[in-house]
Amino acid sequence: MSPRACVIGWPVEHSGSPVIHRYWLDQYGIDGAYEKEAVRPEDLERFVQQLWTNGYVGANVTLPHKEAALRAARSADEAAIAIGAANTLWLDPDGALHASNTDAYGFMTNLDAKAPQWRAAKGDVIVLGAGGAARGILYGLLKAGVPRVLLTNRTRERAETLREAFGPKVEVIDWAARNEALAGCGLLVNATSLGMTGHKPLIINIAALPNDAVVSDIVYVPLETPLLRDARTRGLATVDGLGMLLHQAVPGFERWFGVRPEVTPELTAHVVATLGED
Ligand code: NAP
Repeated sequence: MSPRACVIGWPVEHSGSPVIHRYWLDQYGIDGAYEKEAVRPEDLERFVQQLWTNGYVGANVTLPHKEAALRAARSADEAAIAIGAANTLWLDPDGALHASNTDAYGFMTNLDAKAPQWRAAKGDVIVLGAGGAARGILYGLLKAGVPRVLLTNRTRERAETLREAFGPKVEVIDWAARNEALAGCGLLVNATSLGMTGHKPLIINIAALPNDAVVSDIVYVPLETPLLRDARTRGLATVDGLGMLLHQAVPGFERWFGVRPEVTPELTAHVVATLGED
């Protein structure tokens, strides 16, 4: 039987995952399929418990199911446990459901590919946002050995919750103090939804960032957000969010279809062209 995987969400229509996985299936000549599954929150547990019966070898999980998917799995990797959410599921050889979170892998791999100099930059890393994506990014940065992360969020309590979860290397600063805090930072990451098409703009003045700082935005619609445009205009290195989306898809595809796929400029162009149709 040809292997089939899917993305599970509610709603799921907007998901970019099918475009990525179907491109790779085609590119590597794999006789497999990747579907979208709209699953209501109350049906999630039953659906993933019956993944195999439903005809799937594995799945991506998107909002609002990421926490519930982790709870439903028999085992989980360190990243999923630390982040508290799963975005990738597969069945172990004995048929047991395994949960993984590949967001941190995707973020770090993309950052290292596009701006490896971030590791040599002096100073702190500053992360804007304390939602689900920020959790994955904090995990990835700390795992990479970053000594201190400044974390700032409109709702300070959410940032404090992340500091409690990730420990004293995370220092919470007021949202109102974000502009001044940039002076000592070698890497700025926007992990809020601000700046995304249809959302509010991100109000930030990046003038204080050092000249060798790297600016990363995980928002990928538009591909060049106003933050990245400002950074490029200032001559700073920039890292867009689309690469994170592409790289986070790699481990799941390899598990389900047996080939480790590559993130190439052709894939990027294909996804940009498709997302642009929305
Ligand atoms: P989330 O859990 O809903 O978190 C949203 C974040 O944005 C929170 O920190 C929230 O602050 C902040 N925010 C929203 N509106 C704001 C406003 N008006 N002023 C200040 N802060 C505001 O969402 P998420 O899952 O973390 O995703 C965040 C963004 O990352 C989304 O745009 C998503 O598409 C993108 N993303 C990209 C990738 C990728 O692969 N590139 C992966 C995951 C997510 P409060 O806590 O104060 O509400």
